[in-house]
Amino acid sequence: KQKLKDDALLKKSFNLAKKSWNTENFLWSKKLKDTLKNVFKINDLRPLQLETMNAFLSGEDVILVMPTGGGKSLCFQLPAVLSQGVTIVISPLIALMEDQLYSLQKLKVCAKMLNAKAPKEDVKMIMTGLVDNKSPLKLVYVTPEYMFKSNRFMSKIQKAFEMKRLAGFAIDEVHCCSSWGHDFRPDYQKLISLKGMFPGVPIIGLTATAPAKIIVDVQKMLSIQGCLVLRASFNRPNLYYEVRRKPNNKEACLDMISNLLTTRFEGKSGIIYTTTIKESEQLRTDLRARGLKVGCYHAMLEAEYRTKVYNKWMSGEYQAVVATIAFGLGIDKPDVRFIIHHCLSKSMENFYQESGRAGRDGQQSYCIVLYRLMDLFKLSPMVFQDQVGLPNLYKCLAYCLDQSSCRRSLIAGHFEESWSKDDCKSMCDHCRKKRKVKLVNAAAYCKHLYQILAKAKQADQKLTPLKLVDAWYNKGATSHRLDSVPTPKFPREVGEAILGHLLVKGYMKENFQFSAYTTNTYIERGNKYALAMSDGHEIMLELQDWESS
Ligand code: ADP
Ligand code: MG
Ligand code: ZN
Repeated sequence: KQKLKDDALLKKSFNLAKKSWNTENFLWSKKLKDTLKNVFKINDLRPLQLETMNAFLSGEDVILVMPTGGGKSLCFQLPAVLSQGVTIVISPLIALMEDQLYSLQKLKVCAKMLNAKAPKEDVKMIMTGLVDNKSPLKLVYVTPEYMFKSNRFMSKIQKAFEMKRLAGFAIDEVHCCSSWGHDFRPDYQKLISLKGMFPGVPIIGLTATAPAKIIVDVQKMLSIQGCLVLRASFNRPNLYYEVRRKPNNKEACLDMISNLLTTRFEGKSGIIYTTTIKESEQLRTDLRARGLKVGCYHAMLEAEYRTKVYNKWMSGEYQAVVATIAFGLGIDKPDVRFIIHHCLSKSMENFYQESGRAGRDGQQSYCIVLYRLMDLFKLSPMVFQDQVGLPNLYKCLAYCLDQSSCRRSLIAGHFEESWSKDDCKSMCDHCRKKRKVKLVNAAAYCKHLYQILAKAKQADQKLTPLKLVDAWYNKGATSHRLDSVPTPKFPREVGEAILGHLLVKGYMKENFQFSAYTTNTYIERGNKYALAMSDGHEIMLELQDWESS
């Protein structure tokens, strides 16, 4: 029975998607065009914007999946301006709402925000505007927790619904509904009741999170199963993707960055992402000592100082900003030519978003990750408490470890799109130049590492990743070393790559211990221990060919 229901729903979304939304024969088409130009000052629509607006204005429930910066907000703002009544916008963060309100104000669109700190006049304007046919009020922004907490607001919405003044609901960052998402927010679960309370009022959900599992979950949550789902492509053809080995030696690493900034990126603008505030400040200082014009940006700086840094970067006085991921919201610089990740990202979503700040103007731009395994262990203590924190981080690790796949196809896989090599057009390191690789059965190495771990365990000790690799290479504390374990003949970076693969595949796992000031990570046998120990089990890995380089 459930199967029949699912089939019917699939058929429904299929028929909806087939319908041609991309036309200008709707009742509102002329008005839409005029409003776009005169109110929003936009000349051309981007892919899927017209389809989305036409469907939403037709009263369909829609989920729009589009990369960050693609222009999702317009898809509910413009219909809101065209409609008779008020559109309620639900968004998880006040900062995101403030950004939108600010730009709507400049366009003279009447939009207000309702939260615990909203000025009295605004609250009054919202409460009366909802139920007054003459009110200019078009959009009300509210967080989900506040929406259901305020009885007064809910009863006004109910009244507006009865007066047919409730034009629609827009739910921004709609993936927050799903506990599968990377950003689950329990308050979003309250939205479950919207469809039942206000039947016939269309809901539009917007997100840059693509996996089908999450979209289906969101549809269920909102009771809009089988609704129209529109997906924009995530491919950014003008971005060049590259992963470089980050030197262990700090000076060598600084040389690498300063070389990039003075040669390939000379006179170009970019961002260098770091993990921690301390790191961003240190790297800024080190790069300045080499004569580079860079600023630093993170959340602990005064707002005034941050604005100064931002402006210097916008004007070109700074070539680059060394920043934590706090630098991102609301960046609107079209000619960012390079994004250098000084450390891998926490997830592919983060990586896509951070690197996606390059090349908004469509010109060729570079996204370079400086990768080394030991950086991973700075990130894992920050994310492991999150249900999907480690799996997401390991996907990013796998992206860095990969020796042959098109980087673009790896990213596409993450967004459940399939881009062929033709979509890359040699715009990644692997498509541009094939690496020499070696296929290696790492089963024996895995067992060697287990032996070292077992010895430590007997002595009631835990091994950090560094100590484990040290012992394997016959370095560090002699007490951890084992005569029965041969010292690898390949370079240390290959040994680290093997450990990285073993973590990704579950042969090894991280274990976390809290101390007074930090969380430490130790390596332990993973869930696949028994499998690794079983006779003849192979662990085939594609590694860099250390003999020919
Ligand atoms: P998203 O929510 O998808 O991340 P936004 O809605 O914040 O993206 O839009 C990103 C930027 O693109 C905004 O500055 C917006 O004004 C601009 N924008 C949206 N649609 C268009 C368009 N058709 N033409 C030009 N600029 C647009
Ligand atoms: Mg948005
Ligand atoms: Zn490629």
